[in-house]
Amino acid sequence: MLQEVRGTKDILPNSIASWQYLEENIRIVTNRFGYKELRTPIFENTEVFSRSIGDNTDIVNKEMYTFEDRGGNSLTLRPEMTAALVRSVIQNGLTAQGAIARLWYFGPFFRYERPQKGRYRQFHQFGAECLSSPYPESDVETILLACGLTKQLGIKNFKLQLNSLGNKISRQNFQDDLVKFLNSKKMILSDESKFRLEKNPLRVLDSKDQRDIDATLEAPSILEFLDEESSLHFGTVKLLLNQVGIDYVINPRLVRGLDYYSHTVFEFQSSALGSQDAFGGGGRYNDLFEQLGGKATPAVGFAMGVERLLLILEASKLLPENEAGVDAYIITFDSNNNGLVLSLSDKLRNAGFSVKTDISRKSFKSQMKDANNSNAKFAIILGDNEIERNVVQVKNMQSGEQKEVNIENILKFMEI
Ligand code: AMP
Repeated sequence: MLQEVRGTKDILPNSIASWQYLEENIRIVTNRFGYKELRTPIFENTEVFSRSIGDNTDIVNKEMYTFEDRGGNSLTLRPEMTAALVRSVIQNGLTAQGAIARLWYFGPFFRYERPQKGRYRQFHQFGAECLSSPYPESDVETILLACGLTKQLGIKNFKLQLNSLGNKISRQNFQDDLVKFLNSKKMILSDESKFRLEKNPLRVLDSKDQRDIDATLEAPSILEFLDEESSLHFGTVKLLLNQVGIDYVINPRLVRGLDYYSHTVFEFQSSALGSQDAFGGGGRYNDLFEQLGGKATPAVGFAMGVERLLLILEASKLLPENEAGVDAYIITFDSNNNGLVLSLSDKLRNAGFSVKTDISRKSFKSQMKDANNSNAKFAIILGDNEIERNVVQVKNMQSGEQKEVNIENILKFMEI
């Protein structure tokens, strides 16, 4: 039997209600913040990602689905959105003359990772990006939006971790000092971290390997290297977060994997998830526009893992319990009447009701069962006797009450 590709998942009809519930709430919250949706293609020229995310990151090194098309172009299935979004914003001039752009997205992303609970090769992200403002207000607005979604969904048991990577100068000074420190501990670092020390030293602080955690206990802190501009930015972000009442924990070890971040970085973690406990993350990326050939444009944003949000909602019993049923299920004793059944269903649907009918020529009893299983509010019964008299029997499936209704009055009756 043919199977789905490892690390990918069908979203089956019995779980689609949860996805749609989440998507609906995302639309509600982004709308409240005045963000507009942007949809870009699933694949991009490879350069979009290799020039932005960083050659020495796991994503670019090991995880991209890159292929050559028949014309010999190198294409990549998008592993994340920010770079693709910035490509589109530059191309379409959405931030021309320094205009603020507030954008959100939802869709599938692709990374060749080792699949496990909460980690897939095709996964989905929701994210929001606020472009053109260098001010901490925009950092806080995006964090408020992310928290607005958790609030809307009722998610409470999470932690917001916060750090600053400072501007380029602060980061370079920190990196030089960190490399010195790590070299003195090189013998006890994991192999992975020895490699990272050469290629992307900040990432050593991110390692979950106990040897690396022990070795870096006394590592220098980025926060001691922030220059005046960087300190001021970070200080104002914290102040504004305090003023809006958002709790956070400062984690000087939070570096996030990608090269394009500067200043504020943050991550959302939930204890409802297993080892993959991050359900969202983001930060400021003031240099990305230039890296992708655009005009310097300050920007900040975040991405949340949709599958992980759904895992949290499920574990915390926050998903709506009952699937919405249909308004009516039309039942007849004799399949010869199915023409009438179909035209009545059409009339009701045109008036805005959801209607199901039997298309398997089942017995009356089975149709009644289907009506029940479809969570129908009403069963509308069309028997020969009723047809002759131009009436239908309408059974309220919840109360069990049954009424005869003239077929001309059915719409009025349903509307009550
Ligand atoms: P990142 O772009 O790596 O910061 O990812 C942002 C969020 O997307 C993470 O916090 C996760 O919730 C989610 N995510 C990232 N990679 C995966 C994956 N392979 N499978 C499922 N969710 C993921």
